[in-house]
Amino acid sequence: MVAAADSSGPDPRRGVPRTDALLADPAVAAEVARVGRDRVHAAVRAAQERVRRGDLAPTAAAAVVVASLPAGPSSSTPVLNASGTILHTNLGRAVLSDAARRAVQDAGGATDVEYDLATGRRARRGRGALAALAGALPDAGDVLVVNNGAAALLLAVAALCPPERPEVVWSRGQLVEIGDGFRLPELVASTGVVIREVGTTNRTTVADHLAALGDRTGAVLVVHPSNFVVSGFTSTPGTGELATALAGRVPLVVDVGSGLLAPFPLLPDEPDATTALRAGADLVTASGDKLLGGPQCGLVAGRRDLVDRLRRHPLARALRVDKLTLAALEATLAGPPTPTARALAIDLDDLHRRTSRLAGELAGRGVEATVLPTVAVVGGGGAPGVELASWAVTLPVALAGPLRLGSRAAGVPPVVGRVAAGRLLVDLRTVDPDDDTTVRRAVEAAAAAVSVAAPATATDAAATAAAASARVAGRTAAETTAEVG
Ligand SMILES: *Cc1c(COP(=O)(O)O)cnc(C)c1O
Repeated sequence: MVAAADSSGPDPRRGVPRTDALLADPAVAAEVARVGRDRVHAAVRAAQERVRRGDLAPTAAAAVVVASLPAGPSSSTPVLNASGTILHTNLGRAVLSDAARRAVQDAGGATDVEYDLATGRRARRGRGALAALAGALPDAGDVLVVNNGAAALLLAVAALCPPERPEVVWSRGQLVEIGDGFRLPELVASTGVVIREVGTTNRTTVADHLAALGDRTGAVLVVHPSNFVVSGFTSTPGTGELATALAGRVPLVVDVGSGLLAPFPLLPDEPDATTALRAGADLVTASGDKLLGGPQCGLVAGRRDLVDRLRRHPLARALRVDKLTLAALEATLAGPPTPTARALAIDLDDLHRRTSRLAGELAGRGVEATVLPTVAVVGGGGAPGVELASWAVTLPVALAGPLRLGSRAAGVPPVVGRVAAGRLLVDLRTVDPDDDTTVRRAVEAAAAAVSVAAPATATDAAATAAAASARVAGRTAAETTAEVG
């Protein structure tokens, strides 16, 4: 380093490259088009300041400007989810299919989202996505798409429980907190709807619901307790039982949560929209970015007159879904199996082969890697308690940090694994097979970074032994029943 006070050396302040000179550098100029003028200017100023302080050679300034700019057009960083949590809430829940991603890309420009190209007139907004959803739900009289699952529920109760019939009948066993401190009863109450609680935490009967009905009842609400399990002395009426008993006196709204449109045999306890509609639900609400594997949105399906009431409610405009989401939803519904579906239905032998290959390749390059049976979960607050047998490569826990940061120099994205029993687990179940090589290169880059800073320790070896003797790196109860949203 050259000290500014050192009169024997060159004065670095004189060598500070001028702003226009740095901006004229071809590599820097290319960045202006990519990330915008303001960001590049800020990076230029920072580099100039470092040269002024004497800790950057003037000739290196342009390269440092380029290196300090974000890798992508926004600070949202693409990540590989190797955590074994299929719908990782903090990583944005469902990973879109390639088809859905292409649809989002295309929808970024002007589109015919509510325009009929044949007539040149206004057309129904998002009709392609709505037709795809209606096609997937033949038992629904009509469908609607809003911003998310919470919005679907909010709109349903607001539209069905107007001031003259403000009450919604709701079992005490289903007053759910969905996550991050948000509670569905508070959401519903915020619309002015009055919650008529019935039953108890563990048991609610059809009779409890019927006894609460009156002139002021707007709807009966059933919410799937998607992020917790109650066991022991419990009972809740099935949708069919409740629908039969209500006999159409008031609308029955069922929030199925997960967004499954039809039964999914691998998750037999997850409710789905088709089953709920066939059982007699008048309206079903769900999320688009959980088990459906699509973009964040809220699905509403059911009786045509009720869906119409929701559509015409003033709130509908505030909860409207954007054109990118509509495009992604249509591509999800019409397209090939989603990454979510593929991760759920993965062939375990195939996963074992991929895991062994990754561990073998890493071991061959001097990284301490072993294969261990582990447990994956659905996540996103769905399927609480469901443990999916899986395989993981276990690595020294010291790699977790550098792996999470990724390396621009090595051209590898962040990889998020899971730490258990003092080891870092990399579960390829949630990784596209095409990305296995990227995961390997990311681990190698992380290992290279760590071997400079902190060589693998005896503690890691001890932890390996401990994890191996446990034979299966399991999940804590908290992990399998993480928050809904
Ligand atoms: C996830 C969930 C919600 C909230 O849906 P978001 O799409 O996260 O807004 C509401 N109800 C149930 C039962 C859920 O599982």
